[in-house]
Amino acid sequence: MELIDGKKISSDIKKEIAAEVAEMIAAGKKQPHLAAVLVGHDGGSETYVAAKVKACEECGFKSTLIRFEDDVTEEELLATVDKLNNDADIDGFIVQLPLPKHISEQKVIEAIDYRKDVDGFHPLTLGKLFIGEHETFISCTPKGIMTILDSIKTDYVGKHAVIVGRSRIVGKPISQILLKRGATVTICHSRTKDLKAQTLKADILVVAIGKADFVTADMVKPGAVVIDVGMNRKADGKLTGDVDYAGVSEVAGYITPVPGGVGPMTITMLLKNTLTAAKEQHAK
Ligand code: NDP
Repeated sequence: MELIDGKKISSDIKKEIAAEVAEMIAAGKKQPHLAAVLVGHDGGSETYVAAKVKACEECGFKSTLIRFEDDVTEEELLATVDKLNNDADIDGFIVQLPLPKHISEQKVIEAIDYRKDVDGFHPLTLGKLFIGEHETFISCTPKGIMTILDSIKTDYVGKHAVIVGRSRIVGKPISQILLKRGATVTICHSRTKDLKAQTLKADILVVAIGKADFVTADMVKPGAVVIDVGMNRKADGKLTGDVDYAGVSEVAGYITPVPGGVGPMTITMLLKNTLTAAKEQHAK
């Protein structure tokens, strides 16, 4: 079994991004600028946004954090999205989810100019992915997974990829990308009958369900590439994935650990998407 070191891959990509940004600035171009909108004080969201701001600093990006209290109205938030859409200095921005219940997340996402949608959640972005037209702003976790798979020179054509989880941010987009790359794709979810019969067919197994250590060694085909997207907090506070790492690493050909696998890739891909957005702005 070979462990895939997402932390190292991510750190190498961040160095490349930082070097590219330094070159852009030396050439007199504008510093790439990412904005994040954060509503309320949810612990997870605070941590993610702080990590995004830190990653921006590491790579030489400008970052702007716009904060609102929980009682912000949908109109106020939509007005901010509109302002960011029209601010020429902002290359890309994200609205950190989840939002309070009185605000429609879908309405807010749809209000974002898809050219600045560096999270890749806009229906137009997802629609283009579905058509297979282009892959500009693939949402960050699926993009991170593909970068990991490419890093081990995964052969996709004719391989059987099984995705466990059908969320809009992970399961669905990754299935479309793998399909486009030539894999035969099976998508499983909570209603799938005999999940093990499906996972055992996988040459590439992507698990994104949010259930600690759920996929066990007996569910994995020997030699399979196993990508564990899950991030679950155990009672002792430790972070663990959706895959039973100790058992599955005895069977898998490649496996991503948690922490240190897919997690570090996600924020790095946000920077990559923002850099792409900045270059497209420069090209105008
Ligand atoms: P969601 O809760 O949106 O979706 C979970 C999916 O898993 C659903 O499709 C659900 O099926 C399916 N599922 C749940 N239980 C089972 C089961 N017993 N058997 C088969 N399928 C099941 O989750 P996300 O995609 O947002 O996240 C999944 C995990 O990945 C979480 O742990 C999350 O923290 C992590 N994550 C990690 C990221 C990273 O950067 N590393 C980024 C994003 C997420 P159904 O649709 O039928 O309900």
